[in-house]
Amino acid sequence: MQELVRGMRKQMFVDGQFSTSSTGETFAVFNPATGDEIAQVPDASNDDVDRAVKSARHAFESDAWRTIVPAARERLLLKLADLLEANGDEFAALETLNQGKLLGFSKMLEVGGSVQWLRYMAGWATKIEGSTIDPSFGFPPGVRYNASTRRVPVGVVAAIVPWNFPLLMAVWKIAPALACGCTVVLKPAEETPLTAIRLAELAHEAGFPPGVFNVVTGRGETAGAALVKHPQIDKVAFTGSTEVGRIIGKQCGGDLKRVSLELGGKSPVIVLDDCDPRKAIEGAVGAIFFNQGQVCTAGSRLYVARSRFDEIVSGIASVANATVLGSGFDAGTQMGPLVSAKHREKVAGMIVQGAREGGEIIAGGKDVERPGFFVRPTVISNSDKKPLSIVKEEVFGPVLVAMPYDDIDEVLAVANNSEYGLGASVWTNQLDRALRLVDGIEAGTVWVNTHNMLDPALPFGGFKSSGIGREHGKAIVETYTETKSICIAY
Ligand code: NAP
Ligand code: MG
Repeated sequence: MQELVRGMRKQMFVDGQFSTSSTGETFAVFNPATGDEIAQVPDASNDDVDRAVKSARHAFESDAWRTIVPAARERLLLKLADLLEANGDEFAALETLNQGKLLGFSKMLEVGGSVQWLRYMAGWATKIEGSTIDPSFGFPPGVRYNASTRRVPVGVVAAIVPWNFPLLMAVWKIAPALACGCTVVLKPAEETPLTAIRLAELAHEAGFPPGVFNVVTGRGETAGAALVKHPQIDKVAFTGSTEVGRIIGKQCGGDLKRVSLELGGKSPVIVLDDCDPRKAIEGAVGAIFFNQGQVCTAGSRLYVARSRFDEIVSGIASVANATVLGSGFDAGTQMGPLVSAKHREKVAGMIVQGAREGGEIIAGGKDVERPGFFVRPTVISNSDKKPLSIVKEEVFGPVLVAMPYDDIDEVLAVANNSEYGLGASVWTNQLDRALRLVDGIEAGTVWVNTHNMLDPALPFGGFKSSGIGREHGKAIVETYTETKSICIAY
């Protein structure tokens, strides 16, 4: 697998060309399943960021992009999707090597999902429309008016993404931004820059003009911050932690830049007493342990009707205890490593704190005796509903905290007692109770008898501190365009 990385270009992509950073500085990228360094990539300086933004600005204003017909943007995106699909095995292997996820998920979600999103968003390029309006101006006498709106691209977009789904998160931003006629500077997470670099190569091959899509590899506090502050950036599209989202939101507020923020979560999974226990256990397991819990909508708070609490929670703990940890490349592996040593320490620390505050660890919670950044799937029972910090704070790891409840009003109140509001799921076969919860839950997405299902046509985003704005679906056009009103007197 190491050959994959050895053979690829590990450089930034600016103005249609690969380059090192202006300072020559680099940083290391690791294989989280072994802890071994696999590559050094350029550590972008302020000058590099400036060059990338200026290139994107120039491309935005040039005839190579601004005046091409929407169908040409659509064709380029479809070509990129085809190229990604054709190189899918390589991309999937690269993602598993660098991020740690199971190879099957890399194929299905990182590559398959990215291809699906690229194709869906390509279609929007030719479907962006405004409206015609009859204004009521009564003067000057005899003059009539013809008024309409157009949606125009917002401009140069800084796309800043996290490490949990490196390729897919990048495509969630790049594909709609380009479909809407924007140009993009992408900063991947420092842990996982490799597939973004390869994607830039494919975009070049697909024929995107120089500067339309740039990738700067660098650190958040330096390159990321420089990108957000750059005066020639019109919009920041960010996915990441609520903490960094607040910093970016503040900066963009001051600069009056457009901003969309997809942030953290502490999503509740609510199991009602009439549930099918097999489906509820399987569902809750998938909701929290998928991608090692490194999912913004991870179902990390479990609320089970008291009469079913022991049965459901012990069922989840049995699955957790039997989970086989290992490299994402091994066919028998059911859970891979966390993304980095630093993240593993954070997650392990939160488990210890949960136990110290009175949570009962009924699965996992022990060190894993192997190299790499592994944490066992962990279930913490909080049967007497203590105010554990782990009930409030996002772990972003394979850690579930489970609590019983006695009635629907109570569970709705505790489910909503969170600064976050990204996702939630309800497990029941009773329509009236499902709909009462759907109505009352404060979250951008509520699932019933499923969890973590996302589609390019279905808007996605957060209530409360989980974000601002929506991605996917029709809503995406508003995210990457401005409305221009036109009024003609005749
Ligand atoms: P993060 O630390 O917020 O980083 C996200 C991105 O922002 C990275 O590229 C990071 O660069 C960059 N960054 C860091 N500080 C910055 C700054 N001051 N200015 C500009 N950019 C900066 O988040 P993470 O740890 O990578 O990802 C985990 C978080 O993402 C979780 O909270 C999770 O819930 C959230 N998430 C949300 C969604 C959603 O759709 N709502 C989806 C996935 C993940 P570096 O890599 O160099 O630090
Ligand atoms: Mg980071």
